[in-house]
Order: sequence, then structure tokens, then C-alpha cells
Amino acid sequence: MEFGKEKIYTIPVNDAFQEDSECPFCAMERKLEEDAIAFTLGPSYMEDDVRAMTDEAGFCKPHMRMLLAQENKLGLALMLSTHLKKTNKDIKALQKHSPKASGLFKKNEESPLEAYLDKVGNSCFICRRIEGFLEKFFDTVFYMWKSDPVFRDNFKNCKGFCMEHYSRLLKTADKRLRGKELEEFCQLAGELYIRNMERVEEDVNWFINKFDYRYKDEPWKNAKDAIPRAVTKVNSILDKQ
Ligand SMILES: [Zn+2]
Ligand SMILES: [Zn+2]
Repeated sequence: MEFGKEKIYTIPVNDAFQEDSECPFCAMERKLEEDAIAFTLGPSYMEDDVRAMTDEAGFCKPHMRMLLAQENKLGLALMLSTHLKKTNKDIKALQKHSPKASGLFKKNEESPLEAYLDKVGNSCFICRRIEGFLEKFFDTVFYMWKSDPVFRDNFKNCKGFCMEHYSRLLKTADKRLRGKELEEFCQLAGELYIRNMERVEEDVNWFINKFDYRYKDEPWKNAKDAIPRAVTKVNSILDKQ
């Protein structure tokens, strides 16, 4: 994707950088996940091309659990109905050609049936949809970094990133920036990362201290929610507070 097309994504990226969180990319991911769940069970789901994608990909366990927790049972039943229809038809056809005893495939060779089962087992419509947008959002960060001084300030004032998204930020920077600009960006992102990671480390340590009777009457400082914030930093889990 070339710079210029990112304009439509500047609003969600800006929103995430203005939200108070331990990682703006985790905030983007959470919003994308909520939207994808609503989309899957919403009216657009009735469109044939969307249905074809969910029929083929299915859902991972965490996302199926989230779909199950929604009120819209008819939407879920419709999705399950066509997903079952498609996979049952495909598997039935593959079973006819797959018996290992037939000698068609060597003992340790993966048959097309096994490959199909693996593929469906490891794909998720919602994960794919989130990833598609997130990739564009990462590119948008660099588009805005280059073109929008207000965003640059917001970026500098954010509370750093989780480990996973720091890594991805550096990888995207490699593609989007060069020379001195790349060097400066990596230096700044590195400082932001460490300074804020150390802040959270201190908060966790203070949280532990509060279990010690000697600190019983001391204030909590910023440690009350140290665990969920540390979990965001370490594992990119950002739940709604
Ligand atoms: Zn993150
Ligand atoms: Zn998923």
C-alpha cells in the first residue's frame, strides 16, 4: 500500500493514541475485535462474499467464545449452518480420496484431507479481518508520523507499547523510513518503550510491597491496577476496565 490511501485510517489511529492505555496498538486491536464480532453477526454477514469467507475460514476458539457470548443467536446459527454445510461437503469429498491404506499416500505424508482439516482448524475469519486492518493502521502511523506534527506529539506522549507491538513497530519502521529518519524513530520508540516498561515494573513492585505489613499504611500510588497494565505490556491483553 502506498502512502495516501492511509487517510481513511487516520481517525481510528488518532483515537487510539488519545486513549489512555499501555499500548495504543492494543487499543486499536481491541476496537477492531469488537467491530469484527459485531460485523460477523450483523446484517453485512448476510452478504454472499462475507458468508463465503466465514464458511471457508471458520473461527478460532477465543473468537468463537466471544461470538457465543453475544445475544444474537440467529446470526450465529446462520453462520454455523453454512460453515457446517461447506466443511461437511469438502471433507466428504476429500475422504473418498484420502484413505491411507489405499497406498496413495506414504505413512507420514500429509494427505489432502489432513491438510484441509489443519487449514480450517488454524484459520479464523475474525483474526484475519483484524490483521488486515491492523497492517494498514501500522502503515498509517508512519504516514501520519511524516505528515502530521500534532500526531507526532501525541506519539511522543503516549505510554509506550507492549512487547509484540513494539517489535512490529520496528519492523514496519524498517520498511517505511530510511537513513537518519529511521534512526531517530527507532531511538525515540526505544526510549518510550523502556521508560514506560520500567514505570510498569515499578508499579508491579509497589503492588507486591502492599502485601507486606510494613507498607500497609503507605499509599497505593499507581499500583492498584498494576497487574492488568503489566499484562497488556507483556502479553498484549487489553480488556475493558
Ligand atoms: Zn500492544
Ligand atoms: Zn480468531
